[in-house]
Amino acid sequence: MRASNSFKDQKSITRQGIQALYTFTPFKLLRAEEYYTLLLAPAAYFEVTPHFTWRSKSCRVSLKVLVARRASKRVVQPHQLYPFIFKRDSRDMYVYKRKNIEKETFWRYPPTYMEFSWSALNSGYYCRFGWTLLCSQSRCPQEKYCPYLKGSPCRYYSTKPIPYPSLFNVYPRIQMKFEDPIGEFAFLPIVAIRYKDDPLAILRFTDHGSFITFIDGVVFSPKLAWMFTQPTIFLQEGLGFEMSNVHAIALEFLPEILDDFIRNVLLSDINISRWVILKYRLYIEESERNNYIREKKGFKAFERLDRIVKQIVQGIKQDETTIKIVKDVQNGNITPELIDFASVLFLHSLAHTLKNALVAKYGCKTDDIGYYVDHPKLRILGVPSEKIRVILFETAMGGFGYIKNFIDEIQNFSRIDILEELIYAAIKSFRKSCEEKVVQNLRNLNNELKPFQEHYKELVNLILKIYYNSFPNTVIYPHINSIRKAIVEVIPEFSEEERSLLDDLLAKGPHCWDGCQLCIMMERGCNFLPFDQPFLVSERLLRAALENILIMIKHPISFSPLKTGIRKNFEMLLSAARTKIDLVSPWISLEIIEDLLRLHREKHLKIRILTKIDPNNEMQIRSIERLTYLSKNYSPGFQTRVIEELHAKGMLVDDIMLLCGSFNFTISGLSTNVENVSLDFSLKGTKDFKIEFDELWRKAKPLV
Ligand SMILES: [Zn+2]
Ligand SMILES: [Zn+2]
Repeated sequence: MRASNSFKDQKSITRQGIQALYTFTPFKLLRAEEYYTLLLAPAAYFEVTPHFTWRSKSCRVSLKVLVARRASKRVVQPHQLYPFIFKRDSRDMYVYKRKNIEKETFWRYPPTYMEFSWSALNSGYYCRFGWTLLCSQSRCPQEKYCPYLKGSPCRYYSTKPIPYPSLFNVYPRIQMKFEDPIGEFAFLPIVAIRYKDDPLAILRFTDHGSFITFIDGVVFSPKLAWMFTQPTIFLQEGLGFEMSNVHAIALEFLPEILDDFIRNVLLSDINISRWVILKYRLYIEESERNNYIREKKGFKAFERLDRIVKQIVQGIKQDETTIKIVKDVQNGNITPELIDFASVLFLHSLAHTLKNALVAKYGCKTDDIGYYVDHPKLRILGVPSEKIRVILFETAMGGFGYIKNFIDEIQNFSRIDILEELIYAAIKSFRKSCEEKVVQNLRNLNNELKPFQEHYKELVNLILKIYYNSFPNTVIYPHINSIRKAIVEVIPEFSEEERSLLDDLLAKGPHCWDGCQLCIMMERGCNFLPFDQPFLVSERLLRAALENILIMIKHPISFSPLKTGIRKNFEMLLSAARTKIDLVSPWISLEIIEDLLRLHREKHLKIRILTKIDPNNEMQIRSIERLTYLSKNYSPGFQTRVIEELHAKGMLVDDIMLLCGSFNFTISGLSTNVENVSLDFSLKGTKDFKIEFDELWRKAKPLV
């Protein structure tokens, strides 16, 4: 991408790849020397005066991306971008005003007003809530209709102007839409992870993924602690590009097994479920409970939390919604909707953690790897996916080689410990950086604040009350943003000194809100908006889940002696299959054959059955008849061979999941008999089985 303008003395700036998106983020300063240079772009829901041109008409890429079931957004890669230069005393002034601003329902999240001019950029006023993001006037231009107005002049409007570069870090909200490779380039199975006797997740790899990436919005992250929001605007047109032949790994979960897994993780520790319930109850409105999990709900979620803290601080009677939320958090009850929400939090937290672990291991840049989360309940870009998975991909055509390296180690050198190392490192860092510290800070807060009791009794008591009484009889506490806001409301006039004292006092409290920049959330790399992020990660849930997953990776084989009823395990394995099934069994029943045929027809699985002819067994005679017919009609996708001496029994799915034992693949073998069963997801066990199967297959005779 290229930004240049008509001034001959100005050098043009050119950038490639993802880096271009960080450089050419609209509203971010390109240069701030004796004048301010930045790109301005039309924003959705905003009117701008006067009109302007920000890009060349011709584009390298111009396409429509589905952003909701019926709405699409144009994404462009223009040949040229035209930055604006604001020189001292220049009269150029561009004012962005939210449409329909007179109606209160349109104040969904800030900003609603911003001005770009030399004087606003050089000495701008702003609102602590970000509604007026930047303005050259010393009185808020929105006083007439702002529903958040407090006093006149408004108490939340700044009294001193500040230069724009000291006010915000401006960064892009980058959307990445990953496209699945198809046909022969589809994801290759690498390794499966079990949970009890079923497959929980399957890791796959492709070097033929592709994605569209674009700046979809711009986030203004305040540099001042006492600004309470992260104002966000959305661009009318996305600014981005397409990439193909991208290396990617997908970790796909089986819905039923993940449900069971997440339920058990939540049940294992009431504090985990309490955190998730709090986030769920704040983020999802009661009327939306059975609906999709959408984005841009974080601002309202924060308002709900603010109300809880405010009522504690002011000692006023709690409203009904607040009472219900607090009670739900205390009770810690687990519902099916909560499990869905928790699953999304788990996937999202996992995506960040795996991404960070790969970045740390290979020493690459954080932008080199992107992530993408699919969940049937998650509605972010386009139509929700049927699949439940996390995808990590390299953000370069042809890949950088990190992911390929990682996969090679697992596949070619059977080094599963490389995956163990990644997970172990993550668990350790969570505990050290956040969880232990939080528990300690919360317990010691009383003591830590004692020295200040004498002089600042009121303030100290206020802080203690917020931390200990917002969610009584739990170790749950409010987000630091809501705490600051509530205190500012009761103590209106703050001197600079009092403010820094308060900052010192608050610094002694726990900071990580079950997920923070130190453990999970990464502002820059996150696909979610900053005000949504705290509600959509859970450090404790992920930590507990990873501890379980680590055990299962270390013990990939489960052996159950004398078990009855393994039909369900068998069916779960079939539903996990994507490429092929090798089955060996001296006897096989018709129902099993039909199950396999259905898979071959619906999912184009390659099926190989190895069995024997037994003239003394009625069932086997009928099965052989059917298999002979199928071999004739469905070869080579569905094949059967027979061998005389056959004792081995087992089924290998996608070369990575093995079910074997004393049972035959017959209805009685799978449903009623008492059998020895083993589920083997080890790299060695599955490889050995495959070698043995191939050997027998060569010796066996085709059925004709
Ligand atoms: Zn943290
Ligand atoms: Zn994220």
